Amino acid sequence: MKIGILALQGSIREHSNIIKKLEANPVKVKFPEDMEDIDALIIPGGESTTIGALMKKYRLDKAIKEKHKQGMPIYGSCAGAILLAKEILDNRQIKLDLMDISIKRNEYGRQINSFEADLSIKDIGDFKGIFIRAPVIKSFFNGAEILAEHRNCPVMVKQDNILLTTFHPELTNDTRVHEYFLEMVKEYKEVKDMQRGIEKEKGQEMGLKRFV
Ligand code: GLN
Repeated sequence: MKIGILALQGSIREHSNIIKKLEANPVKVKFPEDMEDIDALIIPGGESTTIGALMKKYRLDKAIKEKHKQGMPIYGSCAGAILLAKEILDNRQIKLDLMDISIKRNEYGRQINSFEADLSIKDIGDFKGIFIRAPVIKSFFNGAEILAEHRNCPVMVKQDNILLTTFHPELTNDTRVHEYFLEMVKEYKEVKDMQRGIEKEKGQEMGLKRFV
């Protein structure tokens, strides 16, 4: 499985290392053409305003939205979660507008207020959450499903093919959040391969008919 990692700014290497540990193939995504062959995309934490501006500059925003439409799974952590939100409160910045949540940046305070918290994640269990100038998901609409909460606010959410965490699992040795995401990718890839097979068969049938 080829897992694209948006490589504009932020914790790129950390995500790559976990993906390698899980025996999948991390692929750095800097330009739209890097996205052609990937099965999923991780948008890492960093500074969402910077990542957003670079994403637009390199026209990656369009390419990401296009892949999302085709069902490709996307995982955003922290700044990645902010960029995926449909609403960013009190800030006008470039965003992907894909996830039905409203989010507020830096809601726990500044860098010095970064913290660790014991989380309990649905289908995963206990997990050490590392929050660094993290945003808070203030509300969500439509089908977003909460997988973990901290102080009554969602910190891990899934909606269709999008997964978000406001914390940084890539900064721990615990690979289970990434494993969870890879399961989503496996399902998508199976469907994609099946569709490709059907199309190939159809093509062959049509080719045969032409010669009959
Ligand atoms: N505070 C950053 C932002 O607003 C996110 C921090 C992070 O990704 N760790 O974009």
